Amino acid sequence: MSLSLTDIVLTYPDGERTLTALDRVSLAVGAGELAAVTGPSGSGKSSLLAVAATLIAPDSGEVRIAGREVTGLSPAERSRLRRDHLGIVFQQPNLPASLTALDQLLVMAHLSGRSPRKAVPRARELLDAVGLSGKEHRRPHRLSGGERQRVNIARALMNGPEILLVDEPTSALDHERGARIVALLADLTAEHGLATVMVTHDLGHLGGARAVFSMDDGRLARRAPAAWPDAARPGDRVG
Ligand code: ADP
Ligand code: MG
Repeated sequence: MSLSLTDIVLTYPDGERTLTALDRVSLAVGAGELAAVTGPSGSGKSSLLAVAATLIAPDSGEVRIAGREVTGLSPAERSRLRRDHLGIVFQQPNLPASLTALDQLLVMAHLSGRSPRKAVPRARELLDAVGLSGKEHRRPHRLSGGERQRVNIARALMNGPEILLVDEPTSALDHERGARIVALLADLTAEHGLATVMVTHDLGHLGGARAVFSMDDGRLARRAPAAWPDAARPGDRVG
C-alpha cells in the first residue's frame, strides 16, 4: 500500500477535557486508487488528511508512507518525505497573486532544488492534463475558481508524488464544475498511479471513487459500494 493509516487516535485539547478527532481510524490506499471520504462538518476529515500528510502526529497508531513508518521521523525527515512523496491540495487554492499558472508550478521544482527551467516541459504537460493549455501565462485573478483549483492540483503533482491528499476541492465551485474536478482527480489517479484520498461533503461527487468511506464523529466506516446516484439516499447524514 502506498499509504496506510492503522488505528489512528488523535485528540485535541479542549479546555479541561480532550476532544477525540480521530477514534481508531484505519485506511489503506494503493497505487491507482481513489478513496473518497465524506461526512459532516467537524467529523474529523481534515484531521485525517493532516495526519496522513504528516503535518500532525497522532496520539497513537501507525502512518506508513511508501513503506515507511513516519511517526518516529524527525521534523526534517518528515518534510523531506512530504516533498518527495506527497501532493497536498487544500480547500483554498493558495496561489501567490503575482505568479502565472506556469510559474506556480515551477516554484515547486525550485523548492525541491531542481532547475525551474528544466521543469518547464513537465509543468506544461501537467497544465495541459488539467485542461489549462493556453492559459499558462495567466495570473490567478484572470482564472476562474475552477481553473485556480486545477492549477492547485497540477502544482501538487509537480514533484511526481505517489500520494495525493485533497481536502474538499469542490467546496468553492458549483456542482457541475465540482463534478468535473472530481472526474479530473479520478483520471489523474489512474494515469499517474496515484494513491489519492479525497475529502468531500458532496455525495453527488463520488462517482469516480474506488472506495467510499464516511466519517462520523471521528470514526471512519466503509460505505457500501452501491451505484452512486446524484443524490444522497434517505438516512444519509452528510452535511
Ligand atoms: P472536518 O474536516 O470533518 O470538518 P476537522 O478534522 O476539521 O473536521 O475537525 C474535527 C474536530 O476537531 C472538530 O470538532 C474540530 O472543532 C476539532 N478541531 C480541529 N482542529 C482543531 C485544533 N487545531 N484544535 C482543537 N480542535 C480542533
Ligand atoms: Mg475540513
